[in-house]
Amino acid sequence: MNERIDGHTILIGLMAYPIRHSMSPTMHNNAFAKLGLNYAYLAFEITNDNLPQAIDAIRTLDMRGSNISMPNKQKVIPLLDKLDPAAEMVGAVNTIVNDHGTLTGYVTDGTGFMQALKDENLDIIGEKMTLAGGGGAGTAIAIQAAIDGVKEISIFNRHDDLWENAKRNVDIINENTNCKATLHELEDQDDFKNEIQDCAIYCDSTGVGMKPLEDQSLVNDPSWFKKDMIVYDTVYAPRTTKLMNIAQDAGVKHVYNGLSMMLEQGAEAFKLWTNQEMPVEYIRDLLF
Ligand code: NAD
Repeated sequence: MNERIDGHTILIGLMAYPIRHSMSPTMHNNAFAKLGLNYAYLAFEITNDNLPQAIDAIRTLDMRGSNISMPNKQKVIPLLDKLDPAAEMVGAVNTIVNDHGTLTGYVTDGTGFMQALKDENLDIIGEKMTLAGGGGAGTAIAIQAAIDGVKEISIFNRHDDLWENAKRNVDIINENTNCKATLHELEDQDDFKNEIQDCAIYCDSTGVGMKPLEDQSLVNDPSWFKKDMIVYDTVYAPRTTKLMNIAQDAGVKHVYNGLSMMLEQGAEAFKLWTNQEMPVEYIRDLLF
């Protein structure tokens, strides 16, 4: 890093709180070093309160951009000049690109998820997805999958404060894409089972399986799964969740945790800032 930083180094930020645990600075700085790019990526503890000043600083310091995470992903939108259409549909931004003072907001979680499947040579275009969760991750996944051409998405949510968001996602998908989205109650176990048995990919975006729920899974019966389907859990700590164990017990061939989505959402942002491909395999070996 010392050898790389000089008077021309371009700064990219990560604005969130809490943020010190993030793997993103290690991921991006190693990728810049590997490709010999003169950028530096730093994490800043930014809350909703100091977000406006932080966004102004992107322009003032002529930063190339920033990643944005909780609690700022929605609050940042009115502070930007432009929004990518997917970010507009998702209603959240995780990446800002600064083009000579014009700030554009993107969301790369959904494109990262779709790319993670492509990395495994899995094609879900024209297929049906069953998705548990309509929060931040679930919204980005559902909307990008619909934009990319997934034929049908059955979204399951429990009746909590994110039910309305899941409902909004279904409406946005049906109004703006050729995908048919439907909203289902997670409490209806027969419906949940039928929709999982009828899909090519089941994705869990609820965080069930992650601490403190690491001994839980929304699906507990291996017979709900088919061997030739895909089971994707957005959780990556632990690396193998209870859901993944159950899917593996059922003999499901394609079972994944959320590491690939995490890596690819970073790679999508990296490309937006640098116009270059992140050396994904190198970073995967280094970090995971
Ligand atoms: P969120 O709070 O915005 O949404 C959570 C969703 O899960 C909601 O739909 C909620 O109704 C549902 N939910 C929560 N607890 C539940 C329970 N006990 N039973 C059933 N449903 C429940 O959270 P988020 O930001 O969308 O994150 C969700 C998960 O996705 C987390 O585990 C997070 O680490 C992971 N994530 C992974 C990546 C990645 O790159 N792999 C990116 C973003 C989020």
